Amino acid sequence: MSQSLFTQKPSNTNKAHASNSNSTDLHTDYLVIGAGVVGLAIAKRLSDAGKECLVVEKNALFGEETSSRNSEVIHAGIYYPSSSLKARLCVEGKRQLYRYCQQRSIDHSPLGKLIVATSSDEEEQLSAIHLKAQANGVFDLEQLTQTQVNAREPNVKATSALLSPSTGIIDAHQYMLSLVGDIEDAANAIVYKAEVTHIEQHSQGWTVAINNQGEALTLRCRWLINAAGLHANALATMYSSDVPAIHYCRGLYFSYTGHSVFHHLIYPVPEKNTVGLGIHATLDMAGQVKFGPDTQYLDTIDYRMPESTHLDAIKSDWVTAIQRYYPALDANKLHPSYAGIRPKLSGPGDPAEDFLIEGPQTHGLPNLIHLLGIESPGLTASLAVAEYVLQLIDQSE
Ligand SMILES: Cc1cc2nc3c(=O)[nH]c(=O)nc-3n(C[C@H](O)[C@H](O)[C@H](O)COP(=O)(O)OP(=O)(O)OC[C@H]3O[C@@H](n4cnc5c(N)ncnc54)[C@H](O)[C@@H]3O)c2cc1C
Repeated sequence: MSQSLFTQKPSNTNKAHASNSNSTDLHTDYLVIGAGVVGLAIAKRLSDAGKECLVVEKNALFGEETSSRNSEVIHAGIYYPSSSLKARLCVEGKRQLYRYCQQRSIDHSPLGKLIVATSSDEEEQLSAIHLKAQANGVFDLEQLTQTQVNAREPNVKATSALLSPSTGIIDAHQYMLSLVGDIEDAANAIVYKAEVTHIEQHSQGWTVAINNQGEALTLRCRWLINAAGLHANALATMYSSDVPAIHYCRGLYFSYTGHSVFHHLIYPVPEKNTVGLGIHATLDMAGQVKFGPDTQYLDTIDYRMPESTHLDAIKSDWVTAIQRYYPALDANKLHPSYAGIRPKLSGPGDPAEDFLIEGPQTHGLPNLIHLLGIESPGLTASLAVAEYVLQLIDQSE
């Protein structure tokens, strides 16, 4: 739908409607900013509930930012602090996502993950991870001995491991495409190349200024949902003076050429005092292995690969890290692939922050929900996040 929102004819198949004759002042009941996986899941849930809703997206297509620059892992919900939103929504979101994938024939595979210990110190940490998982309601982890690891993964060197059978992988693009289908089947719409440039409160809701392919227009809505990912905090400063800072934390990936040497996702025990999970091996639905992501705080959103000397140094560190659990790694098969950027609410050295999903009860602004710091496991949690947003709305209606 690349046509201008201004020229897009409101009709029975697009419930967002013009509220006056020259149609520069459009109105919708619910306006979602951002067609990433989270905005789409919210719009799908609103559509399921029979609500009139419109999604505006500044890019030419859905999911072009963080939602297509991640590991495509369906996380089990193991590492997050218990009773955090990340833990609760990951565990519930995983359940809903597997069911949705089955119902819609979306490519996915619950191939399981091994968290591998390579020393006695790490074995102690495995026990702590096991307890944390149980506190989060993840009761399916299995402890594996060295022999059991070898039987499952002959290429992996480990003294023991935890198997998470409910960790899996998903084709995130197919998933988002299916959400788009659900939204459009309900006669709601997504408008691309429509960038929100200004937000203002009015007596019955919100007025939003939009740059739609160079054309300035105004959209009024009763409820506004800010699901703008890396840009959500900047948008929030348009309506609030109390917005936490955003920190951009890049994760690089290296692909590994050839057929997969693993049957599961392989994660090392997370290193102490790091913000990531260690350089792990994941597979995509085509069976391609990739390693990463690492963590590097940036001042700006920049997806470019580091320049070659820096990249060589990174690769050398990674080879050492990966060879701890995969000694046969061939460094010549490792190639820089892509980068994603986490929208973090915690800066370097700070303790990890939870998702910040706030409605009127928390921030005091009527008819507004914003979602800040939606880093991992946002893909896994997306359907549960949407359910949570609907609950916040219901509490205020
Ligand atoms: C390296 C990395 C690995 C990850 N791995 C996993 C994983 O394996 N499993 C998992 O569950 N999660 C993972 N995540 C997290 C997951 O990818 C994110 O939580 C999720 O994609 C966030 O979706 P979103 O819709 O909030 O944001 P986005 O996908 O960024 O979508 C936000 C959208 O808002 C739009 N937008 C912004 N500003 C405006 C504006 N002014 N007007 C209109 N539109 C606007 C943007 O263009 C964008 O399309 C990972 C993240 C990273 C960075």
